[in-house]
Parts: sequence; structure tokens; C-alpha cells
Amino acid sequence: MNIPFNKPYMTGDELYYIKDAVARGKISGNGYYTQKCHDFFENKMGYRNCLLTSSCTDALEMAAILVGIEPGDEVIMPSFTFVSTANAFVLRGAKVVFADSYEDNPNIDASNIESLITSKTKVIVVVHYAGISCDMDTIMDIASRHGLFVVEDAAQAIDSYYNGKPLGTIGHLAAFSFHETKNIISGEGGMLVVNDERFDKRAEIIWEKGTNRSAFFRGEIDKYSWVDVGSSFLPSDVTAAFLFAQLENLQKIQSRRKKIWNNYFFKLKELEEEGFVRLPVVPDFATANGHLFYLVCANNNERGELISFLKENGVHAVFHYLSLHKSPFHLQNSILNTLEHCDNFADRLLRLPLYYELDIEDQDKIINLVISFFRRI
Ligand SMILES: *Cc1c(COP(=O)(O)O)cnc(C)c1O
Repeated sequence: MNIPFNKPYMTGDELYYIKDAVARGKISGNGYYTQKCHDFFENKMGYRNCLLTSSCTDALEMAAILVGIEPGDEVIMPSFTFVSTANAFVLRGAKVVFADSYEDNPNIDASNIESLITSKTKVIVVVHYAGISCDMDTIMDIASRHGLFVVEDAAQAIDSYYNGKPLGTIGHLAAFSFHETKNIISGEGGMLVVNDERFDKRAEIIWEKGTNRSAFFRGEIDKYSWVDVGSSFLPSDVTAAFLFAQLENLQKIQSRRKKIWNNYFFKLKELEEEGFVRLPVVPDFATANGHLFYLVCANNNERGELISFLKENGVHAVFHYLSLHKSPFHLQNSILNTLEHCDNFADRLLRLPLYYELDIEDQDKIINLVISFFRRI
């Protein structure tokens, strides 16, 4: 057996659309396929105003500019996340304030947030880890009482919901990723969703290098100029063509990934009941979108042994984030504080292989290996 942790899924339609994009003779950003992707997200999936970007990191950087981060502003976010969640705001001079996870769920503990708010706080960034929603009503309520913005790092959260609302439609701004490790991919890729209309006009300008070029191409103005800060955040139309092929297969990809996720969940449940591991907690308000499947071991040693055992049997399982509050970069300017739950997930969480082409027989072998490791049979 040789089962990788991830295998990017190509639907088979990518080259067809890329060829068409090339034949159209215009492959820079904001072209035919970019518009088709925007249409899909806005009209089929119900996101309000979408802008494709070259990565989720880019979309987060746009969000940091849009909310007007200035040096010294404070941004509250979980420590158990990818570096880009923090870097995007640090690049604008923000001070990142890390919050702990729940004891049983890597997401930001909403009851932790209010005690971290100061007069300098400007934004709360939530990360829907494994595509499982944060407690959005509570968080939006805290934000509105304190006059703060909420940015959703929805990198892992395509086709997942909070009380029936798609993730990425709730905060003022949201960022998605189409990196090849995510459910829907374009190699590198991402998207900013603007839910607060106050940001619509400026988002488009920042996206287009600080110019009003998009308005010019729509014929709204007769020349385009440099009107604001910005960068080249938009992807090539070749990337958008690839993404469009994936989007047309979204339901197929999602039903497969969710099936694999459920198979892990239901077959490993007995190990949880026997007290060996803990499995993902999906609150009543949330859904699981088959992004990643994890289990939580009793301690770091045991996790290391399980990784080695699986590896010896040809299965590649991997741990996930190291706590950002303990990172060398953060500690250059901050004192070490204790975020116990975050550290526990950093030490004990293990992700099992989950990709479209993982067949159920191979998956059952992985499940049996995990069960035999814990029962030592
Ligand atoms: C993948 C990921 C990112 C970064 O996405 P890119 O598209 O690679 O920039 C950011 N945040 C989280 C939570 C992610 O999982």
C-alpha cells in the first residue's frame, strides 16, 4: 500500500477550458473565465460580491487594506491557523493578538474574544478549521457591540454552512483558497468575498493595482488613473479557466469528499467511545464539508508513534499547525503566553489521507490500521 496524504483531483475538463481561454486571445486577469467564475460564485452559490485572487493569502492582504489597518492596530485571531492569516495583517503594521481554541474544537473560542479587546482592536479574524464553522452569531454580536470588523478566513470552508448560511457570507469580508490542497483547486488561487457594500468600490481598485481600470473597461469613465494603493491581486484567466472546470464539478467533488469524511467518522467512532482518540466536533449550527479529517491523540508521543506505524504500512498521515503564538517570528516582539487548547491541537492532532480518488477499500485499510494501532492487535 502506498497512500499519499493528498492527491489533487483533476476533473478532466481543465485543459478544455484552458484551451478555450488561450483561443480567446486574452489571458490576463479579469477576462472571460474570471467573469464566469464570479458569476458562478455570485449567482449559483450566493456570495454577494466576489473577486478572484492569486491566493487566499492575497485575499487576506486585500482584507487588511480594506479594513484600514494602520500600524499599532490590534487584530484578534486564533493561534491555531496558517501563517497567512496573521502575516496579511502584520504586513500592514498590525499587532496580532492570539486567542485560544476550544477544548474540543480547534476553532477560536468565542468566549475568549471579549477579554482580548482593547481600544486599539480593529478586527476579529475567524478561521473555520476543517471547514467547520465558528460560532458566528456570538462573534458577529461581539463585533457589532465593539464596532469591529469580522474577516472570515474561509480557506477551507467552501460549501460549508452556519445555520444554513454559506460560510464566507457572514463576516464583512471573507477569503477562500483554491490551493491544490483544498477541495476546489486551481494550483494556486483564492477569492475575496465582499459582504459589506461599503467596500465594493475600493476592493475592485485595490485588486487592479490601485487603478479604476475595471470601471474604465465597463465604460463608466473615459480614462483610468492611479487612485489608491493596490497591487496585482488578480489571477490570469488561464488560472480562472482551470478553476471554472472545477466549479462545474463542485457537487460531484463534494459528495465524494463528504462520503470519505463520513466513512472515517462513523468507523472511528468506536475508538472514540473506547476513549482512545477524539474526533472532530461539529456543533449543531455547523456542517462538515469533507475538507480534512483529523483525530486527536492522547499526547504528542502517541501521535508520533501512530504516524510512524502508518508510514511503515504505506500510509502518509500528517500533523498540522504549530501554535503561531510560540513561533520564532511572533516571539521577537511578544512575550510568551499560554494557550493551552491550541497547544494541545498542535501536539496531538493528526490528519488522515482525504482526497477525491481515495477509494473506500484503501480507506478501510487505513481505518483498520488506526484501530489496530490503538487496540494493539
Ligand atoms: C490554505 C490556507 C490559507 C492559505 O491559502 P493560500 O491560497 O495558499 O494563500 C490560509 N488560511 C488557511 C486557514 C488555510 O487553510
